[in-house]
Amino acid sequence: MQAPSSRSHLELFELLMRELGEHMVKAPKPLHETSKDWSDAPSSPPVAILEPRSSEEVSQVLAFCNRLQIPLAIQGGMTGLVGGANSMPGEAVLSLAKLNRIEHIDTTAGTALIQAGVTLEQLQNAAEEHDWFFPLDLGARGSCQLGGNAATNAGGNRVIRYGMMRNAILGLEVILADGTRLERLDTVIKNNAGFDLKQLFIGSEGQLGVITQLVIQLQPRPSARCTALCALDGLTKSTQLLKLLKGVLPELSAFEVMWSDYVHESARLQGLALPFQAQYPIYVLIETLGHDLSLSVSAVENALQQALLDEVILDAVLAQSEQQAQKLWSYREGVSELLTALKPCAAFDVSVSLPKMQALVLDLQEELTNRFKEQHHLFFGHLGDGNLHLISGPYPDPEDLHALEELTYQRIAAYGGSISAEHGIGVVKREFLHHSKSKEEIDLMAQLKKLLDPKSILNPQRVIPS
Ligand code: FAD
Ligand code: ZN
Repeated sequence: MQAPSSRSHLELFELLMRELGEHMVKAPKPLHETSKDWSDAPSSPPVAILEPRSSEEVSQVLAFCNRLQIPLAIQGGMTGLVGGANSMPGEAVLSLAKLNRIEHIDTTAGTALIQAGVTLEQLQNAAEEHDWFFPLDLGARGSCQLGGNAATNAGGNRVIRYGMMRNAILGLEVILADGTRLERLDTVIKNNAGFDLKQLFIGSEGQLGVITQLVIQLQPRPSARCTALCALDGLTKSTQLLKLLKGVLPELSAFEVMWSDYVHESARLQGLALPFQAQYPIYVLIETLGHDLSLSVSAVENALQQALLDEVILDAVLAQSEQQAQKLWSYREGVSELLTALKPCAAFDVSVSLPKMQALVLDLQEELTNRFKEQHHLFFGHLGDGNLHLISGPYPDPEDLHALEELTYQRIAAYGGSISAEHGIGVVKREFLHHSKSKEEIDLMAQLKKLLDPKSILNPQRVIPS
């Protein structure tokens, strides 16, 4: 058999077309439309775009590509921030976009059986229509897919209450590189019959198999949402506030911290007025989800009153309507505007234990503003989970961007943190993985990859360092 690299794009396209047919194989569209996620990682025009519509068709695609050693870029909603789904030279794209059916919602058990290409927002809306709730939430909800959320073990704004994507998955169907179908669509919480294999694929960024179906655990639909924005004089106060609120607000569902530069830039780009008359170093957005609005409101009011008395916060605004709540969330949700405005930029997503967070941020702020004076360095994050985000840019010179990444990851490692709290490794962080995983762990990852994908056709040259 001919080696894959010796075939031209046209030959490969024709081979795929002959085997899989025109209902599945599409010619690549212009690059910007198809093969780039939200990172500034490189991308090449793919050989073809493969759009299967069922698990059987995904299996057929994989069996054929494995036989011919055609490498694949697996693409969900393309909202990733580490370049993992971008296509590389010689790769065909395997798109999950046409696997977009919500198969069944069990209104008694509160479970949903869905195909992997269903978007997060689609499931959120469908759950609500059935009087249930899917709590996972992030800014890219309109485009990101549940398969992508599972492949990256997405976090988002409500992890503090409901956990990450992993916590919501009861069952998974995965197609292995050779086309083998592993169907374990459990609808039960407990299943200790042998290894819990689905855990291997959650967060594996398309390295070990293609997720085609999921069973999701929904939650009771809350009917009362309270949102408030607090102003603080420093990060230390935010950890005090978190402790206070956790103690008195069991309904606490979000605790999002934003540094003042972040709020100002986000407001400026969206044309929003600043939230308070005065400016403060730190803002914390809090949300509770409950079932009795007057009880929830008075619980939040009392908690904020206490925080004011204890001088943990300096000011606060409690949304009086859903519209006001949306407005308060807008400051936090300016991520897409910021990522666009600061391109080319780095979007860091790190975690560190709360007691070390203050020192790490001060350290980074000082280093970055001294070394990269022309750039913005905007800090924010899901502080309740010890998860810090930083958008830093623009960096027209790739060498500067690389120096920034090196410096930042060294600092994170020195503080014992992780270089990825929720976005994954992809290509952007591949060479930095050693900061967060030992040689033995990376070796084991490589062995697992070799076992499940011996010809390395699934997202090659990503995640695991060569
Ligand atoms: P893609 O970007 O298409 O792919 C991501 C990775 O998963 C790639 O490696 C891809 O190959 C693989 N993959 C995709 N689908 C499958 C599949 N079916 N089977 C196997 N592998 C697959 N992330 C968070 O965790 N928390 C946040 O708060 C958050 N906020 C964001 C805000 C904005 C504005 C943006 C743009 C992104 C944000 N993200 C966040 C990152 C991103 O949205 C998530 O990582 C999301 O889970 C990716 O889903 P996707 O469908 O877009 O995947
Ligand atoms: Zn996040």
